[in-house]
Amino acid sequence: MNAEIIAVGSELLLGQIVNSNARFISQQLAGIGINVYFHTVVGDNPDRLRSAIEIAEKRSNLIIFTGGLGPTKDDLTKETIARHIGKKLVMDQEALESIELYFKKGNRVMTENNKKQALVLEGSMILPNHHGMAPGMMVENGNCIYMLLPGPPKEMEPMFLQFGTAALSKQVKEDEKIVSRVLRYFGIGEASLETEIDDLIEQQTNPTIAPLAADGECTLRLTAKHQDIMVANSMIDEIEQKINSRVGQFCYGYDNTSLMAELMKVLNEKQLTVSAAESLTGGLFQQEITSFPGTSSVYKGGVVCYTNEVKKEVLKVKEETIEKYGVVSVECAKELAENVASLVSTDIGISFTGVAGPTELEGKPVGTVFIGISIKGKQTVVHELLLGGTREANRTRSVKYGCYYLIE
Ligand code: ATP
Ligand code: MG
Repeated sequence: MNAEIIAVGSELLLGQIVNSNARFISQQLAGIGINVYFHTVVGDNPDRLRSAIEIAEKRSNLIIFTGGLGPTKDDLTKETIARHIGKKLVMDQEALESIELYFKKGNRVMTENNKKQALVLEGSMILPNHHGMAPGMMVENGNCIYMLLPGPPKEMEPMFLQFGTAALSKQVKEDEKIVSRVLRYFGIGEASLETEIDDLIEQQTNPTIAPLAADGECTLRLTAKHQDIMVANSMIDEIEQKINSRVGQFCYGYDNTSLMAELMKVLNEKQLTVSAAESLTGGLFQQEITSFPGTSSVYKGGVVCYTNEVKKEVLKVKEETIEKYGVVSVECAKELAENVASLVSTDIGISFTGVAGPTELEGKPVGTVFIGISIKGKQTVVHELLLGGTREANRTRSVKYGCYYLIE
């Protein structure tokens, strides 16, 4: 089944809102094995909507519309589709009662134009709206299925999850099972990752390999289709092995995990405690690690040591270290990591010192970062990075690198 999403709304074309509905629906469709080949955005204009539908019908057999199901004059999606496919709009009694109840509950008076929301395409399957008024609907005409969903994400998303996906899953070949796995990578750029596995991406049909880069990380989504779910799984295992025989050293986890979540697992398993001394990251590492419930068994505390005074007075970095090497240095990172571990009494101390930007510091360029890791007072390793992004990116990526080095 080949699907296309048509988002209706002039506010989308004006750039006032982002077409997040298309993203949500595409993600959901991928999960049930429906290919999405086109996203279209069209304004609240019946002629242009109609021409978008005519184009879509030629290349897709499922068209999902969002927006324009409301009570106002500019909401004309179902009216336009009705005219286009030659179906009447009929009053749906259940939808009407549910709208009346919606007004009663809110102690508001229902105006006449609200009744319009209970008009549905004749012969369609109704998708109830439990978070608003306008129901969604699904109707078949010729070779094409039309699904109409409301525009507001807080109405559309639960409707689609509760009713839409089930209705569509039935249409997908009954016997084909879909298995997806996301591999997460850190420490390798998107271009390098793709170059390493270029031939595998070129050959892909089933399983498919879909790369994505975001927030300094890369992911590969592997999707296999087969009647037998075990076979689909082993197809994924096989391609994963091929990929990771080349880039496995950068793969840190699967699906919805994060670097910090993986770090928490490692620390818990090894029963190690951590403390942090943060200069350029200003507490970001500590904020993130403490966002996990039950952190106290591994994370004890730390110091935000933004100024030289705090580095010297609280964390006892030697005056001569700062004079000789500066605060953005291997030596300072080392002392910060060792001293915070002994101050807080933890197995591991991690330190972040560097130049977040936008201006250079101590003659060192923006993005220079030193991450110190002191382990059980016996060994201290300092990693040097040259990130060179914006201030915000340098700070968040430093935290990610910190987690990555600790996992190692
Ligand atoms: P309503 O009953 O609220 O009028 P509707 O089905 O008629 O709903 P629209 O009028 O097209 O939908 O859009 C209502 C609101 O929903 C928009 O102002 C916007 O905030 C949100 N919305 C619409 N389309 C999208 C979209 N594609 N992505 C994200 N948000 C959207
Ligand atoms: Mg509307």
